[in-house]
Amino acid sequence: MSHENTYNLVIIGGGPAGAAAAVYAARKKIKSAIITTDFGGQSIVSDDIQNWIGTPHISGIDLAKSLESHVKEYQGDILNVIKGRVAQVTQNEDKTFSIKTSKDLVLTTKALLITTGSVRRKLDAVNADKFEHKGVTYCASCDGPVFSGKDVVVIGGGNAAFESALQLAAYCKSVKILNRTDKYKADEITVDKVSKNAKIQIINDAIVNEIHGDQFVNGLTYNNTIKLDVEGVFVEIGQMPNTDYVTFLEKNLVGNIIVDPRTQKASVEGVWAAGDCTDGLYHQNNIATGDAVKALESLYIWLQG
Ligand SMILES: Cc1cc2nc3c(=O)[nH]c(=O)nc-3n(C[C@H](O)[C@H](O)[C@H](O)COP(=O)(O)OP(=O)(O)OC[C@H]3O[C@@H](n4cnc5c(N)ncnc54)[C@H](O)[C@@H]3O)c2cc1C
Repeated sequence: MSHENTYNLVIIGGGPAGAAAAVYAARKKIKSAIITTDFGGQSIVSDDIQNWIGTPHISGIDLAKSLESHVKEYQGDILNVIKGRVAQVTQNEDKTFSIKTSKDLVLTTKALLITTGSVRRKLDAVNADKFEHKGVTYCASCDGPVFSGKDVVVIGGGNAAFESALQLAAYCKSVKILNRTDKYKADEITVDKVSKNAKIQIINDAIVNEIHGDQFVNGLTYNNTIKLDVEGVFVEIGQMPNTDYVTFLEKNLVGNIIVDPRTQKASVEGVWAAGDCTDGLYHQNNIATGDAVKALESLYIWLQG
């Protein structure tokens, strides 16, 4: 192994969490590498992000550019910026970690920060992909206000679906929740709030088969025969974390890395995780960056230690 590929910290992922971590690591003069397939993260596809604090409006692409340029301000002896996909992480006998990319580059590090985020579980229905960002959306808090005064549906039966419905009810004309079963994964208190909201109707045992539209969504079919006229379809059927390449950490059933929320420490000494790949309850850009900063503060003390 060449000495150049040995670090005190390797950060995997270049979304808001990874970018924040890289900036903080460089400023703390930790010899680090950030390795990512790309910069920007999941909201890169958004036309208008309205809650990135300090910027009332920013497109996902501009956010990605600003994260990349902020990281690259510090690129040099102290911070190596590597484009690549991590294929495997293993722990060595001396407690360091080896990070192998799909192109067989191997990095070794004392501390590891995982920020590889997640991908939304996609709706499996005819035309769902065709109308993505044309009425089918995967983020109520991001895209909701665009559907002001319109009839919309939320697909899902968990907290994300029910909380999204409550948010949307504040400005949409009507909100229908389409739930696959007759049971809810959402907390009782949230279900209760939804049930008391006159604008929201819950439809159980509803499986969406097809999205309809022309340029934009104008309806959907569920249970093969029932049609609904709606302009917005909010899909909240869960997320899949990008954590398959690391197998020695404790994860929840979905695969999110379990962390201590005070420090972002994972279950193995020397590993931290931040952002959407963790079992944190809320997933937003600002939260991902905050988590990453927390991790950096914690691992900096550990490295000194
Ligand atoms: C459509 C959409 C719109 C959204 N809009 C908003 C919004 O308006 N406001 C808001 O606050 N939040 C929004 N969110 C949520 C927000 O995007 C996420 O909470 C945030 O991106 C999480 O950041 P992260 O850094 O944890 O992970 P991610 O953003 O998922 O970034 C992960 C990074 O890791 C890289 N990566 C993944 N696997 C590997 C690997 N094996 N090797 C190397 N690199 C890897 C990815 O390429 C990516 O760069 C939106 C989400 C979606 C899906």
